[in-house]
Amino acid sequence: MSTHAIVAELTAVGLDVQVDKPLATLTTYGVGGNGACVVKVSSTDHAVAVSEVLRHHREVETLVMGRGSNLLIADQGFDGVVIVMSPSSTENAVTVDGDLVEAGGAMLMPVLARRSVGAARGGLEWCVGIPGTVGGAVRMNAGGHGADMASSVVDATVLSLRSGIIARVPSEQLDFYFRGSALSNNHVVLSVRMKTAAQEAAIGTTEINAVVSWRREHQPGGRNAGSVFVNPGEGDESSGALIDSAGLRGFTIGAVTVSEKHANFIQAGEGSTAADIAAVMSHVQSTVEKVHGIRLYSEVCLVGFSADLMTRFSHPSHSSESHVAARNELHRILGDLA
Ligand SMILES: Cc1cc2nc3c(=O)[nH]c(=O)nc-3n(C[C@H](O)[C@H](O)[C@H](O)COP(=O)(O)OP(=O)(O)OC[C@H]3O[C@@H](n4cnc5c(N)ncnc54)[C@H](O)[C@@H]3O)c2cc1C
Repeated sequence: MSTHAIVAELTAVGLDVQVDKPLATLTTYGVGGNGACVVKVSSTDHAVAVSEVLRHHREVETLVMGRGSNLLIADQGFDGVVIVMSPSSTENAVTVDGDLVEAGGAMLMPVLARRSVGAARGGLEWCVGIPGTVGGAVRMNAGGHGADMASSVVDATVLSLRSGIIARVPSEQLDFYFRGSALSNNHVVLSVRMKTAAQEAAIGTTEINAVVSWRREHQPGGRNAGSVFVNPGEGDESSGALIDSAGLRGFTIGAVTVSEKHANFIQAGEGSTAADIAAVMSHVQSTVEKVHGIRLYSEVCLVGFSADLMTRFSHPSHSSESHVAARNELHRILGDLA
């Protein structure tokens, strides 16, 4: 990539750009190498300005980062343009229009939960348990406590970094499925509208407190990216239970450990590397397959690793015919194919 040209162009339009910037501190695992070109985006105008530059460099790989709570970035880093979504103080409020609550893509999910409850809207309390951004949650179809983004999102306003086109994409075209959607690496979720119901704030606050307490009780703190492996499917035990009964609780490589508290979490201690996390994941995957005959796939997004490793952990549902068709349709809508 001609990093220099892109950096110069992004800088010329007044954006905050850094070259060869460490990405580890921007993720909850706290590991990974540098981003070749890292640009901070704290408004729609910034995002549009980035797309104005990148649409003339369509070959460049892009990575949109929210809170980095579902990312494992390789120690080699990412040799493309990293767009870091950072909420500005003016954009960090929700808008209520009838039953709809609208939030910006960079807003943190716990903030969304609390702001919605504060506006006497119910239905998004579960979001308090997701330590990522609204945009990341849309891309991943994040969920928990019996809900997910698919059950609330009406539509999302999405910008293509490849075409510069912005479209309001209805939920059906986002093609939500378990921990995935039709969104690709060149799409930026600018905002999302979700359906909610009228509810007294006190009821919502009680619900939020219950979610927070449940998380504290059942999930480890420290550096991790939440559940690592997707649950295998109906009728099978959860990934955590399979990992546990394969004797892997506490399994350690370097400073990286399968959590003692929740076997589907991997904890990154001081001095961890992305390679060690990937090695623990590989060991867990092959041991569970040997013991239980079930192959586990990653819920965490891997960035910058070898194609073999990425394929090894990529859930087959991502490449199913219907999801590939939906992804292509979204590319068409957003002008990516022109
Ligand atoms: C302690 C802990 C608990 C967790 N619990 C849960 C849980 O219960 N349920 C659950 O589903 N997840 C859970 N997670 C995972 C994670 O919080 C979610 O996947 C979250 O939605 C990711 O948001 P993010 O902003 O951190 O995205 P990132 O990790 O930064 O990125 C994840 C993906 O989203 C894309 N992305 C990010 N922002 C945007 C945007 N604005 N536009 C387009 N694409 C974007 C990235 O390119 C990447 O593909 C947990 C994580 C931790 C650390």
